[in-house]
Amino acid sequence: MVTHFREQGDNVVLNGAKMWISNAPFAQVAVVWARDEQGEIRGLIVERGMEGFTTPETHGKWSLRASATGELVFDNVRVPKENILPGVRGMKGPLSCLNKARFGIAWGTVGAAMDCYDTALRYSLQRVQFDRPIGGFQLQQKKLAEMLTEITKAQLLNWRLAVLMDAGKATPAQISMAKRNGCQTAQQAAREARQVLGGMGITGEYSIMRHMMNLESVVTYEGTHDIHLLITGLDITGLNAFK
Ligand SMILES: Cc1cc2nc3c(=O)[nH]c(=O)nc-3n(C[C@H](O)[C@H](O)[C@H](O)COP(=O)(O)OP(=O)(O)OC[C@H]3O[C@@H](n4cnc5c(N)ncnc54)[C@H](O)[C@@H]3O)c2cc1C
Repeated sequence: MVTHFREQGDNVVLNGAKMWISNAPFAQVAVVWARDEQGEIRGLIVERGMEGFTTPETHGKWSLRASATGELVFDNVRVPKENILPGVRGMKGPLSCLNKARFGIAWGTVGAAMDCYDTALRYSLQRVQFDRPIGGFQLQQKKLAEMLTEITKAQLLNWRLAVLMDAGKATPAQISMAKRNGCQTAQQAAREARQVLGGMGITGEYSIMRHMMNLESVVTYEGTHDIHLLITGLDITGLNAFK
């Protein structure tokens, strides 16, 4: 993390940048995590209109196209000290947000997988080739059966995680596993479902290609697929493979 600030009277002066921020182009406030002069991570609320704060939009995305994405750029932004979040220091602050968001994503990906499965199942029962619905062919049934099996496994993992969360026992590593597994399940379901639909699968008539493209962002944001795997690896072995 290179974004940092230094004290100056009643303000702090913030410098740095963060790419890939959802809603950056029109957000009125930004919650920013940055290092203070001692190198400790603190949270600040930065408001639109503060001098030196800009939010250039990211163009040319082929994923999450309905959501505006941009950068947050801080060039000597004077932020009142009262905008510093009290009572939260270090990684605990950002991690508490990420744990909640990643848990939600674990369920969202299962939703995408279920929609792909449901679309493929309906299509397979309607589309007739060689005088029978394609859902009657073993190869298509294999795709549907494996999709449903993986979806059920992801639901059970997420459900168990939810029970642990309610009990205050879920660990960040368990949340990483669920987020990563959900993305994998959904991407695989989207690929298989798209094939069941043949040529129709690549059109906007059905939701599968939209899911497939959006999942490319989901697999990257809130911790990339690789990084979540490394978190699980660290959890298993106690050895940090990040650096
Ligand atoms: C559409 C979209 C919206 C987003 N919205 C937000 C948002 O609102 N707020 C926010 O904070 N972020 C947001 N993000 C940012 C997202 O969290 C980052 O893109 C993500 O953290 C990856 O960073 P990066 O793109 O710089 O990839 P990089 O860090 O450059 O990684 C590139 C590749 O290298 C791999 N890699 C990196 N380090 C290691 C390592 N140590 N070991 C092995 N492999 C490694 C990664 O896994 C990845 O495959 C969004 C991203 C997207 C695409």
